[in-house]
Amino acid sequence: MATSPYTGKILRVDLSTGKATETPTEAYADRFLGGRGIAAKIYWDEVPAAVKALDPENRLIFAMGPLGCYPVIGASRWVVCGKSPALNPEHFCYSNFGGHWGAELKFAGYDALVVHGKASRPVYLFIHDGKTEIRDASALWGKGAMDAREALKAEMGSSVKVVATGPAGENQVALATILADNDASGSGGLGAVMGSKNLKAIVVRGAKKSFPIADSQRYREFLDTFRVLRKGNPMSIQGLKEGPNTKKDPCYGCIGSCSRRVYRAENGQSGKFMCQASLFYQARADKFYGKPTEVPFFATKLCDQYGVDTNTLDVMLLWLWRCFQAGIITEETTGIPLSKPGSLEFIESLVKTVALRQGFGEVLAGGTFKAAAQLGPKAQEQLTDYFTLSAQRADYEPRVYIANALLLAMEPRMPIQQMHEITLLVGRWLKWVHKEPGAFVSNDLIRDVARKFWGSELAADFSTYEGKALCALKVQDRQNVKESLVLCDWLWPITDVEFADDHVGDPAIESKVFSIVTGKEVDEAGLNKFGERIFNLQRAIMAREGHRGREADTVTPAWFTTPLKYHPVQHECLVPGKDGAVVCRKGEVLDKQKFEGIKDEYYALRGWDVATGLQTKAKLAELGMGDVAEVLQKEELLA
Ligand code: SF4
Repeated sequence: MATSPYTGKILRVDLSTGKATETPTEAYADRFLGGRGIAAKIYWDEVPAAVKALDPENRLIFAMGPLGCYPVIGASRWVVCGKSPALNPEHFCYSNFGGHWGAELKFAGYDALVVHGKASRPVYLFIHDGKTEIRDASALWGKGAMDAREALKAEMGSSVKVVATGPAGENQVALATILADNDASGSGGLGAVMGSKNLKAIVVRGAKKSFPIADSQRYREFLDTFRVLRKGNPMSIQGLKEGPNTKKDPCYGCIGSCSRRVYRAENGQSGKFMCQASLFYQARADKFYGKPTEVPFFATKLCDQYGVDTNTLDVMLLWLWRCFQAGIITEETTGIPLSKPGSLEFIESLVKTVALRQGFGEVLAGGTFKAAAQLGPKAQEQLTDYFTLSAQRADYEPRVYIANALLLAMEPRMPIQQMHEITLLVGRWLKWVHKEPGAFVSNDLIRDVARKFWGSELAADFSTYEGKALCALKVQDRQNVKESLVLCDWLWPITDVEFADDHVGDPAIESKVFSIVTGKEVDEAGLNKFGERIFNLQRAIMAREGHRGREADTVTPAWFTTPLKYHPVQHECLVPGKDGAVVCRKGEVLDKQKFEGIKDEYYALRGWDVATGLQTKAKLAELGMGDVAEVLQKEELLA
């Protein structure tokens, strides 16, 4: 029996008029699933290319997926989409969050929330009991995102869930984040969009507590299997280790086997501390103080409070250091203690300068590329090979992982979840190479995963360009499904399993759980077709916004010419090669000719025009997107 996993409603709030309306989810769900898929379709329909990121007409779209609010499976993540001022040129962008806010929105009766317009004064939204109130936020304006959240919870009760932006968002800084309950934060510059709308926070309180499952018996059996599949979750390797000052803080509806924990510092301050955000200042602080300290924790919380993205700040910091060393900037001209990177004083000064646009902060507020352009050619020369084109840190870059060149080239921002599917498996393989106890991801297992998940065993040889086009396509389709359902990156896909005889995962698991919950039987290929459609929709959005085919599909120019010396995440730069060889990628560049070759192959596999990389009418029609093709055709954006 088919059962709907949706609330059936999307809430729309126009801050200019103060009106809240509802539209049916079913207008989007059949083709675009939920989460990022539905958000992309709303964006396509409502944000013309000429709209600027900070214009009132831009949309800020908060969306849950159809599997959100179901227990155990880690599917209550949520996304925020909109045009981002952090991208150059401005583009559609997305951000993925954990915690509990998304589940609460669904329990409050909405699959998604679309905010547009601009309030005439600072406001916050309160969504509860089928009502939407627009309330005065003057007393919250200027407060840190965490302080604003806690003030609202103190006033309205601890059960409400809050998403807020900090001073960086209010000041429309390109590095501005959005911060939710449980310190779930989202990058991509969308905090600035929130600030541009004079929207400080969104408070939700849900009444509903569960959603129907088409086959409850099968779901219970599935959970037994799922718990085994994710037991000893290999994703728990990142970030903060367990310790006396930490406690688990899983997102809603999750088995919670990752390292998502709250840390309590000696001064009593506590907060989420995991993964990239917990690591971004660690090496510098350790070097400055000569020993591990709590400074990396305070640095992360400062960023959360002021609403500054740790990833883009990380690369800005490196660029500032290089400019300082080269004598282009000084402590006097910037007001930042540039000679003390790693110190608490330095990070406090930098975060406040950027978030509050104080002095030199006005130069930094548009992001690193714009700041470099303002300072001139010498400052631009300091931008070398450690950036992506979206000004993010070049984690998992393609001189080490060739397939990632295609993943990066096709996206408006660094597609970390797509890259993780490949790189985290290699991380576990490295443990096997180093003979760490319990390591099980062998060369044979990499080949099995490549065959089942990435289209062919050719993808298991990381030293060649063969099989990488098909690998990238498979990863993109699956990950677009994942971010639309919305499944957590730390649990999905299940490529390898510690507690199974052959250790091989199953690429059909997502379709199985979707079928069990909804009662609509769909197989792996059927579900991935949604991913292909959503990816093609994003491609259409990007074409409309200026990312037009082959020439735009590129990566950081320095990667084609500068031999790899260092990789920020995988210092050894080791990958699996042919017939079990262990290959070191140090000294490699991304071969431009071969990169163009895999683009040819990729476009052909996608059913796009090989010469131009533009989408075709036939492909879009096959995906049931004739309406999208029509728009592209009118704008001469089809092959
Ligand atoms: S695995 Fe961790 S990050 Fe993912 S949903 Fe669960 S608790 Fe959240």
